[in-house]
Amino acid sequence: MAGRKPLISGNWKMNHTHLDAIAVVQKLAYTLGQADYDRADVSVHPAFTALRSVQTLLDADNVPVALGAQNVHPKDSGAFTGEVSPVMLAKLNVRYVIVGHSERRELFGETDSFVNEKLLAVLKHDMTPILCVGETLEEREAGTTETKVIGQLEADFEGVSPEAAAGMVVAYEPIWAIGTGRTASPGDAQAVCGAIRSWLKEHYSSAVAAQVRVQYGGSVTPANIAELMAQEDIDGALVGGASLDAERFVQIARLGH
Ligand code: PEP
Repeated sequence: MAGRKPLISGNWKMNHTHLDAIAVVQKLAYTLGQADYDRADVSVHPAFTALRSVQTLLDADNVPVALGAQNVHPKDSGAFTGEVSPVMLAKLNVRYVIVGHSERRELFGETDSFVNEKLLAVLKHDMTPILCVGETLEEREAGTTETKVIGQLEADFEGVSPEAAAGMVVAYEPIWAIGTGRTASPGDAQAVCGAIRSWLKEHYSSAVAAQVRVQYGGSVTPANIAELMAQEDIDGALVGGASLDAERFVQIARLGH
């Protein structure tokens, strides 16, 4: 993680009612302490229906956990039934927005150009995108992992200035490791996270590449977080299943300490 402060993000997906979300955040608030927040930034990404409740709780008690969203529509407003705009998220003090999660790409047909529009919209409203990239099992077995991931970066970073890029978060999530219990080995995860940083260096500069936080995501647990975090180019984790339970998520946020 070479001097960058890690970011541990809990993606709750379509889990937890607003009442469940409040209960988890209350547990996080009374378990995590200053030493934990000094070691890593922490964000939670509840469903849209729980954002306001979680925001109220975090703001009222000044809890240093950042609020995150799982998705966004690129337009500020309009006739887009069922969608949520970046203006709405920014008003809720949302800090991080996941864009291009593989479930959005695979199950909802989101293309790189749509992901790019969302990313630019998040930046326009002064929030931080967590851009997800990653390969399928077939692509890994065919040896095309880097081609896929670099292709996603080329398309998704289109029009992003160096200043904006420097503040971003990229999550490397091999699709075959999400929700499957299969984790990329720390060495394999490092190889792709390192390739992402090399691309940032070539496309932008060494200074930009040194600032971007690159998370790993895919069956992260309290048992494997420490060895993943020991890799030079891994600056945190995007955590699905194991973030639903406050105790397990706290252990991950403590980076295995
Ligand atoms: C994810 O939701 O991005 C994820 C990595 O899920 P899981 O930790 O459950 O594999």
